[in-house]
Amino acid sequence: MAERLLVRALNGGESTKIVTLNGKKMTKMPSALKNLSGLRALHLENNLIPKVCSEIRALTQLTTLNLGNNLLEEVPEEMKYLTSLERLHLFGNRINRFAPGACDGLRNLILLNLNHNQLTSIPEEISRLKNLMYLSINHNWITSIPRELCFLEKLSELQLNYNRLTCIPEEIKFMHKLQKLFLIRNNIEVLPERFCDLINLRVLNIAGNIIRIFPPGFRDLKLREFYCEENPLFLKQPVRAAIKEDVWSLQEITSRFIMNQLEANNPFLMQAIEGYPEVKNTLSKGRECAICGKLFLTTWMECVEFVSPSKNWKTSRNLHHVPLRVLICSFKCFNQRGSNLFGIAKVQSK
Ligand SMILES: [Zn+2]
Repeated sequence: MAERLLVRALNGGESTKIVTLNGKKMTKMPSALKNLSGLRALHLENNLIPKVCSEIRALTQLTTLNLGNNLLEEVPEEMKYLTSLERLHLFGNRINRFAPGACDGLRNLILLNLNHNQLTSIPEEISRLKNLMYLSINHNWITSIPRELCFLEKLSELQLNYNRLTCIPEEIKFMHKLQKLFLIRNNIEVLPERFCDLINLRVLNIAGNIIRIFPPGFRDLKLREFYCEENPLFLKQPVRAAIKEDVWSLQEITSRFIMNQLEANNPFLMQAIEGYPEVKNTLSKGRECAICGKLFLTTWMECVEFVSPSKNWKTSRNLHHVPLRVLICSFKCFNQRGSNLFGIAKVQSK
């Protein structure tokens, strides 16, 4: 039947560039495809195809392949022969894995749609899709974003709605071209601090996660749209300051002294520290107090500052304040904080 349908679809003659066999109840791909090496677009969505035929490897001119709503169980290995492919639609299948090598030849792929499948992970090989700009894997069971995905330099839109993500890798900062990020309905608790390096991000939707607070630089993002409903965000409620003495470890006291002396360009310490690379490395992890501007190492108070969303951001109507994470060096500074800053945890030691 597949062959007959293909012949009918080819009524346009041998020079046909587009074949559309949408919703024909086909259970296999027509093997005569091998004679259509000039084909540019192949639409086989809404059929019952469980496997890609090996003849597809002849379609080296193909730029669009739609196999959406079929019965595939993997991203087929044969994809690697489709070296001109730019748009690959595999939504609505039963895909739970990438076949080895599937990504190898897809160096021109711009769009990959894997919505509504059964993937639990994204393979590291995704990093071979160097030209990928749009990646959509909504409604799968993905638990983590591999670091390798963050090295797709051209990626401009990433959709991972309705998955099982619990965190975002720090490497997301490398996605310099990312403009739209959709992470609706996952289990994400924290956005990494370097998230704020995404200077081209314009649309962020993290509705339906478990985020309570945003990293400090969040207000500098140049967003146009920001949606965060259904997150247990900190609400603007004062936490009473306990007037306590800080008890710091000897390491903390020494580190603070040295870090702040280095900051003040103490020539003796600047020279001395060069002989102690390990100490230098440890001290490089110092953080700055939001009140006094001095540096500290491992002991701080975690606070929340409520800032109004930028007027340039389109947000959900009931978002009046965005809670940002702020670190403070001591109770002394905590008791001097402004009216918009609230304590959320006692002194922490790591
Ligand atoms: Zn301070």
